[in-house]
Amino acid sequence: MKTAFMLLCCVCCLNSFAAAAATDSPPLAIAIHGGAGTLTPENLTPAKRAEIETMLARAVQAGHEKLLAGASATEAVITAIVLLEDSPLFNAGVGAVYTWDETHELDASIMRGDTRNAGAVARATVIKNPILAAQAVMEASPHVMLSGEGADAFARTQELEIVPNSTFNTPARLESLQRMKAAAENKAAQNTPTDQPHKFGTVGAVALDRAGNLAAGTSTGGMTGKRWGRVGDSPIIGAGTFADNKSCAVSATGHGEYYIRYNVAADICARVRYRQTPLPQAAREVLFDVLLPAGGTGGVIAIAPDGTIAMPFNTTGMYRAAIHADGRFEVAIFKDSDKTP
Ligand code: ASP
Repeated sequence: MKTAFMLLCCVCCLNSFAAAAATDSPPLAIAIHGGAGTLTPENLTPAKRAEIETMLARAVQAGHEKLLAGASATEAVITAIVLLEDSPLFNAGVGAVYTWDETHELDASIMRGDTRNAGAVARATVIKNPILAAQAVMEASPHVMLSGEGADAFARTQELEIVPNSTFNTPARLESLQRMKAAAENKAAQNTPTDQPHKFGTVGAVALDRAGNLAAGTSTGGMTGKRWGRVGDSPIIGAGTFADNKSCAVSATGHGEYYIRYNVAADICARVRYRQTPLPQAAREVLFDVLLPAGGTGGVIAIAPDGTIAMPFNTTGMYRAAIHADGRFEVAIFKDSDKTP
């Protein structure tokens, strides 16, 4: 009840912020996600739902405030993602899923649309906010992606906050791992393949700033029970994250192996740039006509240079929130009709 009230206050406050923003020219806009997956309204309690929606509203508002204050799209994206990484509700930073060996390996990336500069970390283990490490790779190294011990070592040189790996522990994620292991054992005993339903949690943001620049960022703990140094799409530029002022900015969430093979984020932007397909259509085409027939589930958030936002998903839901260029605020989990005003 208390959380729902907080959300309402937050929404009212956002509406007035957004109304102010709507009169501004040129446009600015931001969208965020907290993952996509196989959840239904029936198995999400009202209290949990309010908690998640409140956090999404806070993060999108924080990013939007940055944009209103004249910050870059990159700064807005990072502001929103840091808040989501610090929340145990999401599979990024604190709350990251467990590897098979009961540790956490974190992936993150950031890309700016003006310079096409980008930075990423994969399999980071002690960096409190992996998105800040991705930003540091972009801004303070000659590389695009650092991995494992190297990523952790680089973060230390940048004086980013370093924490023990156990900081990312949460009982709920440990339970998911244990359930997954039990299911895997069962299936092995029955000699059938183990295909886990995809769950929520990865976080991401896309934004358009007053200077007309786009940016996208994504951060995740990856997939429960991953092993052998598995890296998903989230730190891979073109797969999980992409930004180009000439087309769009995209942050993806879903079964990473498919997003890598189908180069999802870059493919959406390529359709916009070379075929002049409107962004919402390009995003839907890739999710429903390309990924889904191949077996790839998940969603994306995407933004065009005019501020158009698209947030399609081919799962039952995707945690998402946006403040559109016309001032419209939305936070939603399931289908379009199921939105908080
Ligand atoms: N795409 C992420 C990965 O495969 C997981 C997710 O989005 O939930 O690592």
